[in-house]
Amino acid sequence: MALNSKIPQGDIDKKWTDYKGHVKLVNPANKRKLEIIVVGTGLAGASAAATLGELGYRVKVFCFQDSPRRAHSIAAQGGINAAKNYQNDGDSVYRLFYDTVKGGDYRAREANVHRLAEVSVNIIDQCVAQGVPFAREYGGFLDNRSFGGTQVKRTFYAAGQTGQQLLLGAYSALERQVAVGSVKQYTRHEMLDVVMVDGKARGIIARDLITGKLERHFGHAVVLATGGYGNVFYLSTNAMGSNVTAAWKAHKQGAFFGNPCYTQIHPTCIPVSGDHQSKLTLMSESLRNDGRIWVPKKKDDNRKPNDIPEEERDYYLERRYPAFGNLVPRDVASRAAKERCDAGYGVGTTKQAVYLDFRYNLINKYGRTEASKLGIENPDEATLIRLGKEVVKEQYGNLFEMYEKITAENPYEVPMRIYPAVHYTMGGLWVDYELMTSVQGLYALGECNFSDHGANRLGASALMQGLADGYFVIPYTIGNYLADEIATKPIPTDSKEFTDAEKAVADRISILMNIKGTKSVESFHKRLGKIMWEKCGMARNEKGLTEAIIEIQALRKEFWSDVKIPGSINEFNPELDKAGRVADFIELGELMCRDALNRKESCGGHFREESQTEEGEAQRDDENFKFVSAWEYKAESDWTLNKEELIYENIKIAARSYK
Ligand SMILES: Cc1cc2nc3c(=O)[nH]c(=O)nc-3n(C[C@H](O)[C@H](O)[C@H](O)COP(=O)(O)OP(=O)(O)OC[C@H]3O[C@@H](n4cnc5c(N)ncnc54)[C@H](O)[C@@H]3O)c2cc1C
Repeated sequence: MALNSKIPQGDIDKKWTDYKGHVKLVNPANKRKLEIIVVGTGLAGASAAATLGELGYRVKVFCFQDSPRRAHSIAAQGGINAAKNYQNDGDSVYRLFYDTVKGGDYRAREANVHRLAEVSVNIIDQCVAQGVPFAREYGGFLDNRSFGGTQVKRTFYAAGQTGQQLLLGAYSALERQVAVGSVKQYTRHEMLDVVMVDGKARGIIARDLITGKLERHFGHAVVLATGGYGNVFYLSTNAMGSNVTAAWKAHKQGAFFGNPCYTQIHPTCIPVSGDHQSKLTLMSESLRNDGRIWVPKKKDDNRKPNDIPEEERDYYLERRYPAFGNLVPRDVASRAAKERCDAGYGVGTTKQAVYLDFRYNLINKYGRTEASKLGIENPDEATLIRLGKEVVKEQYGNLFEMYEKITAENPYEVPMRIYPAVHYTMGGLWVDYELMTSVQGLYALGECNFSDHGANRLGASALMQGLADGYFVIPYTIGNYLADEIATKPIPTDSKEFTDAEKAVADRISILMNIKGTKSVESFHKRLGKIMWEKCGMARNEKGLTEAIIEIQALRKEFWSDVKIPGSINEFNPELDKAGRVADFIELGELMCRDALNRKESCGGHFREESQTEEGEAQRDDENFKFVSAWEYKAESDWTLNKEELIYENIKIAARSYK
């Protein structure tokens, strides 16, 4: 099927302005007649619901947590990008656009990325107006730091809690709309299907997670902002509740799934320490501003890190990528860490770790500056460390504390041990320029869409994208659709479509509960995660992916015949909630492997072992794979691949190099 991405005509830097100037409008009186369902209260959903409410639409917003504030976005640490060029270091909208397309290994849609770079500057103003306490320099100006894949400082931050502060801003805006009555909020509600009427999304079936009761909700349009699906790997840095269910249900109702195999594996996470773990912890990429990554030059070196002299350390990122050094993009840094560990240079008891060391910058970057400010001449090392520590504490103190709590090691004194872990999914529901999925009236925002990040997202770009989608894009694009819906009366929820949709959801729940097998939901999730990590993780090959598909199909059969769910349907039953989510993860896992198998090239986070350069770098194949894979669901284990060709008119595509 030909995909229409609805990219406006004209010059790249005029497209969005022209679009806004010509888009259909809905007048204020008609807005009050139109109902919109927003599923998700993370940065994308909360900003969308608040803005649509403020515009005058009647909004219903859903989340499965007990408060919108508990959305996974709250965990975001390091920062948010914007092309403000406050540092006067050469940044611009074009450069952010360019860095993002290049960072994504030339697998993102130019027009969307340019719009993202344009509105990035508005996001900061919006958030500052809301009172988000971004870090400031001594003179009061907003401060910036660097993230991977860039050579400028464009990341705005609030210590290591940027997501929390941004979400409090969006949440305040949302609650204001709740208070004035334009937004109705449903917490502890899980969307379990999209209701389709005459080929358009017209509502959802949601389950009250406290009582187990199913509910029907009508909307003239449905907006999904339900986050990413990294937990398909079981172990990830995502919040434990993050899941794919909403997006998966939409997929089964006709929304194409874009680039499902594109997963981001983040280089700096606390390494896995054993089989007992159900969660991995991120150490923000911002730490690579000041932390230097190294391994011993000698294999199997069991000395303590501080006993290894400077000349016996291999700062392998600085060695291999002198232009970007420790700030190469995540996919590059992750693969380089794996390469060193696989070659026998890993550290720690598992040997699956590398060092992230702050000592050099504690002393030389911060310590010396502070000593100079205080007029201390010839300071000794202890003084420099003490002074440097104070500065580092201000920037990332909470991350250092978190590390120490988990590992019982003080990272001010001993280098952190880190290893790559699953962190973000660039894949998601395919959307056009208006953020509409391939289902009329169904939109996808934030991490749950296939987004603007191509095959690899640059750090600090997810918060930017979620807020761009919610505050600045959807308010325009949804109007273009709803302008033609002003005559549509609310569809009664006792109509056949709603009744049938609710029955299908109820039947599935009842089948799940009646399996009464022997194995826990968790055990299936763990087994799925192992298959995904080993065969569709940091490196993939044809043999492994083919095996994975067969193993996942077998796992699915076993799940549906032997899963054990305690409790009952009409009560608070987190095991039942989880069972539904894991069932969807299993199906998604198969699609991810099929997508990875089909994409024979390497690009960004998708590294096909068969397609690498002599130096072990990812080798793209632009001739055959310069497209977005948009998978269409047909039946169990049966999908059709649609392709959206990617056209680059403003960026010359080239081999991606950070050397
Ligand atoms: C540890 C960590 C640190 C990060 N740090 C950064 C950073 O510094 N900078 C950056 O740019 N990015 C960062 N990211 C990535 C970023 O946090 C996420 O990509 C982003 O917050 C996702 O926002 P979202 O609004 O799309 O989804 P989420 O915040 O995941 O919100 C999803 C919402 O959907 C709801 N939901 C989901 N399914 C259903 C359903 N079926 N029914 C009802 N509700 C549902 C949930 O309740 C929730 O409200 C980080 C990620 C992690 C894991």
